[in-house]
Amino acid sequence: MTYDIIVIGGGVTGAGVARDCALRGLSVLLLERHDYNYGASGRNHGLMHSGARYAVTDPDSARECIEENNILRSIASHCIESTDGLFVTLPDDDIEFQATFVDACHASGITAEVIDPSLACTLEPALCRDVRGAVRVPDASVNPFALTHANVLDARLHGADMLTEHEVTALLVAGGRVEGVRALDHRTGLEHEFHAPITINAAGIWGAQLVRLAGIDIQMFPAKGTMLVYSQRVNQMVLNRCRRPANADILVPDGTVSLMGTTSDRIGIDEVDDMRVTDAEVQLLMSEGEKMVPQLATTRLLRAFAGVRPLIADDSDPTGRSISRGIVCMDHATRDGMEGLITITGGKLITYRKMAEQATDLACSKLGIAVPCTTATTPLPGSESTGNEWDDFNPTHKSNATRRHGTCAQNIPADNATDRTIICECQHVSVGEVKYAIERLQCHDLVELLRRTRLGMGVCQGKNCICRAANLMAQMSGDPEKSLRDLERLLDERWRGIKPIAWGTALREAQLTATIYQGLCGLDQAASGRKEDQP
Ligand SMILES: Cc1cc2nc3c(=O)[nH]c(=O)nc-3n(C[C@H](O)[C@H](O)[C@H](O)COP(=O)(O)OP(=O)(O)OC[C@H]3O[C@@H](n4cnc5c(N)ncnc54)[C@H](O)[C@@H]3O)c2cc1C
Repeated sequence: MTYDIIVIGGGVTGAGVARDCALRGLSVLLLERHDYNYGASGRNHGLMHSGARYAVTDPDSARECIEENNILRSIASHCIESTDGLFVTLPDDDIEFQATFVDACHASGITAEVIDPSLACTLEPALCRDVRGAVRVPDASVNPFALTHANVLDARLHGADMLTEHEVTALLVAGGRVEGVRALDHRTGLEHEFHAPITINAAGIWGAQLVRLAGIDIQMFPAKGTMLVYSQRVNQMVLNRCRRPANADILVPDGTVSLMGTTSDRIGIDEVDDMRVTDAEVQLLMSEGEKMVPQLATTRLLRAFAGVRPLIADDSDPTGRSISRGIVCMDHATRDGMEGLITITGGKLITYRKMAEQATDLACSKLGIAVPCTTATTPLPGSESTGNEWDDFNPTHKSNATRRHGTCAQNIPADNATDRTIICECQHVSVGEVKYAIERLQCHDLVELLRRTRLGMGVCQGKNCICRAANLMAQMSGDPEKSLRDLERLLDERWRGIKPIAWGTALREAQLTATIYQGLCGLDQAASGRKEDQP
């Protein structure tokens, strides 16, 4: 129960820190209160920024983005689709801004090529025809789930202990230093103490509450962002409006779907664990999206979801738009007189590796260890070179499992017909992939399965596949009651995302899903039976 480093939080940042520590030979424990990617890392746009979006307003963050963009292409190739991006000027936008934007990109080291609007429409046929200007930049699409899991996998392969469903409830403080943590295991209800000379707080927006346990104050700004998922991939390149960052100005292609986003509104910290998407947010995203890509007006919506950006507070900005997305690494010894505690926050999904490097460098200097960081040059599991450049850099042609797991897909059982059977047609998830997730990726229930395989995230939103997966997990665990409870939880979670956009075809499909699960499978009766059994 004693380690060199304890990391709190299993988002991409915490996973990256655990990996970096493990690669440097430190003994490390990561504690996540729910599941990997439960926070912002599983609720974002999946845009691998070139940095262009921030070039005018936040040049430090823009430089961090382009540096990490280049690194991730080589170490995380299986998580990335190299789509490139366009910043387009629509009739509503100021064309004068284009020159300012291109100059700022160049100043931050970002390639930005002005192209003729007609060429933009040829490259991206979904674009509206009255585009007035277009700039091509090296944006891309990134699979955030795969990125975090590749870091988790590598950390574990290098000896890290990684515990999900473990919530840190206390920081153990003695003599002005944090000496460890107390954590509640949600699966057993037991509390455990873990000790380490250094604890790294990578708890995202919850980081402020966490350090308060040691009497430290950090002012964070919970900036909620809402996104829409369309049922088809309408665009092939990342599309951005060429203007200062604003609401509803990015459309990202992601596998077989497209994601429109985002909004930015400050919410109360008490709302972070119970976020609701509002009608006004959905209307805004739809109407702005249609201006850039008219086809969205007739494309079916699949769901809406929201995440909270872990930003450091700046009360002069009510929306959080102008707060820097730069990395914030706090040494609480120099800041607050509390040794043994580091906070790493701010930043972006795609700057997670740099964030991890900064936090681990600081931890190493405190421990008196001089091992350099190697994460910028060591490929993540799944992205090792196969010697075939096409395979390494063009994941679009690969099987879906390869896109999710890279070269690790070769470990997915496929020797017999049962293992090869597809149980989620939308995302092409096989029985073997479910087994792989359970046996190798710390998957304990259906929601966790969804985060590891994307089962249930496709066009049918789980209508056809979730009961099959529940059955399979019941067979493997020998606990059908648990599978039934998991099934209810997953359907609730899916419905939460469908409800804000439930009209037309989406509503009809949701009704069909309800009929299958409640009518045919009797799930509501099973649930009410269980409630009657309770004292
Ligand atoms: C709407 C939106 C869109 C975005 N789009 C993009 C994008 O396109 N590209 C990009 O690069 N970035 C994007 N971002 C930013 C990016 O998602 C975040 O910067 C990044 O995911 C933060 O990761 P994290 O690990 O620091 O935090 P999180 O992912 O929030 O992880 C924190 C973890 O800590 C855990 N935790 C909290 N308290 C405790 C405790 N007491 N004990 C144990 N564990 C605890 C939580 O459960 C959580 O899993 C977006 C963010 C939002 C909200």
